[in-house]
Amino acid sequence: MRRLPSPDSSGVSHGHLGNRVLLVDDDRFARKLISGYLLPAGYVVETAEDGLDAIGKLRAGLPDLIICDLNMPRMDGFEFLDIVRKRFPHIPVIVISGFDADELPVGVANDAYCAKNALLAEQLLKTIPELTRNPPLRTAPPPVDDKPVQVRWDGSGRYIIGCRDCLREFSAPRVFQMRPDETWTTCVHCGKLVHFLVAEDLEGT
Ligand SMILES: [Zn+2]
Repeated sequence: MRRLPSPDSSGVSHGHLGNRVLLVDDDRFARKLISGYLLPAGYVVETAEDGLDAIGKLRAGLPDLIICDLNMPRMDGFEFLDIVRKRFPHIPVIVISGFDADELPVGVANDAYCAKNALLAEQLLKTIPELTRNPPLRTAPPPVDDKPVQVRWDGSGRYIIGCRDCLREFSAPRVFQMRPDETWTTCVHCGKLVHFLVAEDLEGT
């Protein structure tokens, strides 16, 4: 087997070759730096610029582990990790941030924390295999079926629609058509094409 170069020589254990890591950080330099730690260790790294970008990446396929920054534009790590915990609770999550470990804000849905300091590479290459070998025992919810989303009528000409991908709500103008069950719109937040159903009692009002 070809010996892979390693960014450190401290003997930390490396993960299985080909484990997929989704790295979410708005800082381009941080993405490049951390990818530079992980790629030589054999990980397949997908990057995203913020939570909404990451949701799009999850649509294309699920990673074995997520590394996520906290402060990001559009959708921060707190909201994104809440969504991951609800939709993909079986995926282990490492939060990275400038905080010291004891300063990490409460309520972050993570399995491990690695501070962005001089030890980050060593910490990540130790923590990732621990989590991928012993993933959290949280059970994944049943896959979302293709049934359309039920919408609410806001009473003033718009529907309120809940997106199943980003779990945010958005409104869309009311449309009139013969087959309300055939109505599609695009989530303004994450770009997901949402199939929605207007209940008949809503149409009558
Ligand atoms: Zn959405």
